Amino acid sequence: MNKIEALVRPNIRALCPYSTARDEYQGALGIFLDANESPYPTGWNRYPDPHQKALKAKLAAIKGVPAECLFLGNGSDEAIDLMFRIFCTPGVDNAVAIDPSYGMYNVAADINDIEMRRIPLGAEFSLPAEELLAAADAHTKLLFLCSPNNPSGNAFPTEALESLIRRFPGIVVLDEAYADFSAKGSLRGRLAEFPNLVIFQTLSKAYGLAGLRLGMAFASPYIIRLMSMVKYPYNINQSTQQLVSEALDRPIDAQVAEIIAQRARVATALPAFAFVRRVYPSDANFLLVQVDDADALYAHLIADGIIVRNRNRVTGCAGCLRITIGLTSENDRLLQSLQAYEKGDIHR
Ligand code: PMP
Repeated sequence: MNKIEALVRPNIRALCPYSTARDEYQGALGIFLDANESPYPTGWNRYPDPHQKALKAKLAAIKGVPAECLFLGNGSDEAIDLMFRIFCTPGVDNAVAIDPSYGMYNVAADINDIEMRRIPLGAEFSLPAEELLAAADAHTKLLFLCSPNNPSGNAFPTEALESLIRRFPGIVVLDEAYADFSAKGSLRGRLAEFPNLVIFQTLSKAYGLAGLRLGMAFASPYIIRLMSMVKYPYNINQSTQQLVSEALDRPIDAQVAEIIAQRARVATALPAFAFVRRVYPSDANFLLVQVDDADALYAHLIADGIIVRNRNRVTGCAGCLRITIGLTSENDRLLQSLQAYEKGDIHR
């Protein structure tokens, strides 16, 4: 058994997965009396492809990875849960994560009864590599990293990530949900160098498809096979497979460039307000902003019809709001509302 196989839960290593009716017949034409479907066409009366072959081929070409290194999930949230179910024995194993980061890592750990060791980011939200390594013991299976990180917005230096992935004794999950907005790019082209690396990306951010729920994981063919065995057989529904495939024909570059330009514009405008203490540098499609009274500003914005995320009570984020970059007109409205707040014209 190699080092990666040894990290897998014994019951998953031994799993005999469900085989769908369609696994036994690959052709497209025929009379399908195998899956107890309705024969009456509604547009949706047939089960979707459980292996998402056509969509995977298209996404693999776009992302420049072999299709056998790609898993598709019902959002990245499905892939997060699968990591615990594949690698961690409930009540026995543990995982390590940076803090603050995306809240679902902790929720999925709790649901799966896995201890999560949360390690605070260093100064200026830097990667606490030595502390993350020191937190691992013989029962540590997973390390969750997120770059660019939510909610701090910064991407970690590639060399720091590489060295941590090489040294960490378990699986490293690197969530790149916001990588399309970052000049640091992605590590997905270098999977062959890191057998313990699983990269998550999503179509919910730069691709504008949050409503369709499509998350991607990039990893070695062995880890992707495990994820495919443990997922629900038809985890990506037919409409998502079709609509995502169509959407992928429309380029996103201009919109991503516009978001990045608007991010610079809002980041430049915010420090002019007296109540803004700090705008953190961002490699993502949002800004983390520290203000004098985060709860009061949050309440004002809500009362003015502008919803942001209050991160005031999150580790290392005291006084902070997380503001997503919207359309130019929406960002204009945000800045107008902040002007009103500064002048004392406070919505309650
Ligand atoms: N990862 C990160 C870091 C996120 O911030 C989010 C959503 N806020 C997700 C994953 C969720 O992605 P999905 O919509 O694909 O489930």
